[in-house]
Amino acid sequence: MDTGMMRKFEKAKAYAEERSRMHVESLVVHFSGVNNPHRVEYRDGMWQCDCEFFVGRDRCAHTMALELVLHGMFEAAQVA
Ligand SMILES: [Zn+2]
Repeated sequence: MDTGMMRKFEKAKAYAEERSRMHVESLVVHFSGVNNPHRVEYRDGMWQCDCEFFVGRDRCAHTMALELVLHGMFEAAQVA
């Protein structure tokens, strides 16, 4: 890795600790669930999942898992 790339990698590591700099606008994730695969989408401040539990509840284990993984990157997007 050249010096320029090493500096960028150090900057990337610092950015990775500052999630508030990143605002997710849209996201599609193919989720390997315990029983079935699922397609989870985040768009316009709303989650969608094709699993049965999500219907009528607007949250499920798949969307909540992604909220945990991407903690701090969605609230700001909803305000914007
Ligand atoms: Zn789901």
